[in-house]
Amino acid sequence: MFKVSYKNAYPVGPRSCYDESKRAGEAFIKAYELQHKMRTKIVRIFNTSGPRIRYGPAFGRVVPNFIYQALHDEDLTIFGDGSQTRSFIYVIDEIEGILKIVHTDEANGEVINLGSNKEYTILELARIIKELANSNSKIVFKPLPIDDPLYRCPVITKAKKILNWEPTTTLEEGLEKTIAWFKEHE
Ligand code: UDP
Repeated sequence: MFKVSYKNAYPVGPRSCYDESKRAGEAFIKAYELQHKMRTKIVRIFNTSGPRIRYGPAFGRVVPNFIYQALHDEDLTIFGDGSQTRSFIYVIDEIEGILKIVHTDEANGEVINLGSNKEYTILELARIIKELANSNSKIVFKPLPIDDPLYRCPVITKAKKILNWEPTTTLEEGLEKTIAWFKEHE
């Protein structure tokens, strides 16, 4: 009997090729495990940021967007009313989790969420970045993209139990390091 997880994907929406490709990827990995007796582990990563994050119109992730806007005193563009939530993990915490999965036998065959479980609204994120960057930017509201998830926060109990892992960097600490990197490299 298989347990079903990740059941809220919409198969024919505008973001579906992205959502469904992730699900297909997991199915392929399981097929390899069953068919070829391969040792597999599946990591589900969640919103991650830190120094060297890709930035530009082709990427458009919220953390680098807001940092760039804040450092240039441009308007911080919130999509929707900013009440949608995300949790942001610092890249070093994420990589440490991935390495633990690689080196932990109990992770064999498992699907493991790696992310932060501290949830923020996008409006809170905008205010925090504005303050940390000492910015005079205004916060403005733009239309919410279709199918933009209203909530996202991973359950990380399995990672805590199997890997004895959890993120240790606070959002503010991670953002400070990311802002410093932007100032130096942008
Ligand atoms: N977002 C925003 N302003 C931006 C970029 C993104 O308000 O300039 C919102 C976006 O609509 C979403 C959230 O921030 O609700 C996270 O977006 P991102 O693209 O970083 O990640 P994902 O949607 O994949 O979680």
